[in-house]
Amino acid sequence: MTISASIYDPQTECMSREQLRALQSERLRRIVRYEYENVPLYRQKMDAAGVRPEQIRGVEDICRLPFTEKSDLRDSFPYGLLAVPKQQIVRIQGSSGTTGKPIVVGYTESDVEIWTEMVARALTAAGGGADDIVQICYGYGLFTGGLGAHQGAARIGAMVVPMSSGNTQRQLMMLQELGATMLCCTPSYATLLGESLRQMNVDRSRLRLKSGCFGAEPWSEEMRQKLEELLGLEALNIYGLTEIAGPGVAYECLQKNGMHINEDHVLAEIIDPASGEPLPYGSSGELIFTTLTKQGQPMLRYRTRDICTLYDDPCPCGRNTLRMGRISGRTDDMLVIRGVNVFPSQIEAALIGVGGVAPHFVLVVERVNSSDTLEVRVELTEEMFSDTVSHLEGVKRALAEQVKSVTGVQAKITLAPPKSIPRFEGKAKRVIDNRKL
Ligand code: ADP
Ligand code: ZN
Repeated sequence: MTISASIYDPQTECMSREQLRALQSERLRRIVRYEYENVPLYRQKMDAAGVRPEQIRGVEDICRLPFTEKSDLRDSFPYGLLAVPKQQIVRIQGSSGTTGKPIVVGYTESDVEIWTEMVARALTAAGGGADDIVQICYGYGLFTGGLGAHQGAARIGAMVVPMSSGNTQRQLMMLQELGATMLCCTPSYATLLGESLRQMNVDRSRLRLKSGCFGAEPWSEEMRQKLEELLGLEALNIYGLTEIAGPGVAYECLQKNGMHINEDHVLAEIIDPASGEPLPYGSSGELIFTTLTKQGQPMLRYRTRDICTLYDDPCPCGRNTLRMGRISGRTDDMLVIRGVNVFPSQIEAALIGVGGVAPHFVLVVERVNSSDTLEVRVELTEEMFSDTVSHLEGVKRALAEQVKSVTGVQAKITLAPPKSIPRFEGKAKRVIDNRKL
């Protein structure tokens, strides 16, 4: 299906790089002063780094500013980082707590408004508009996925189907009966929906889906192809995090060549996670965000722990904003196996590449005789399950070779029966690390 997409806010999204930089500089100057005056932790950090707000003249001075980390949010839980009195906060959202204790973020009315605009831009880039029916199966609640997608879809005037996560049978029934044209959920849940339809022998032509905005967890190009085939839609990536806003901080257009960052509201940088030194566009490193317009709980050089690459070459869609590539992993879900960095997303790509296995897997890491072992438990497809033992041995070998060539690590492959690996309605949990380090 060919979809045409418009641009929600062409004035901003297509602004020249020079204009954008000038806008960012002006906003940065203002926000740094605001943070210094209103958030004690930022004032302490800046004093300790020996930098005063008036020394920040523009984006070129960003590296003089101190970083903020997840631990700062935990230590100041729940209200310590607010820059406004609590009366001005109209919403609390929380991180899903993929890693450790949850954190919460307070939004002013203007913060919710900006976040809504970000998602509206994302859905428009995915071909969305007032004619669309958007089924949202991200969880609603403290997690930003559900409400974030909801607000954006309502903003573009679409018909919203607020399913939230879970209850797969009902999701599938609604998908067919209401005729959703767009789907918003995690890529792992989209896979589950697609596979369930296939098992029920529902032909793809019964669906009216044209595009899906999938995010909240890392996924791969191989997974994109798989989802497009299963669901007959354009599968687009959408990225965000609670600390900065929620989903929609960056979003893919139909060119599918990386996610456009909402740079009028956030300043993105890439650093070397070990040294903290800035890295040029085109190199892989840790993504850092500084919010430029947030009032409630602004973030100063926030270390996302997400690893990716930034691109500033022009996109054929006409938007001039920086793009971020896929998240290859997080510095904190990165497994170090015998000294080699391994990300679950690499394993996913390797497995889908071989065929015969479903994209459901768990990584089990153990330490045996002070050496690390990696086991990849991966599920066979129904067709493969009844295959001959010798053929399955061949599949195992091919998988081990592929994992080795993608990650550089020798892994033990365990083939699991269909449907034996847990499914996830939200973010998938792929790693069991049994090492006592
Ligand atoms: P957490 O997962 O840390 O509890 P959030 O619910 O706010 O917190 O999720 C934000 C995180 O989810 C991001 O920092 C990133 O690691 C991950 N994420 C979100 N969107 C994507 C995406 N499109 N691709 C990969 N990872 C993503
Ligand atoms: Zn584009």
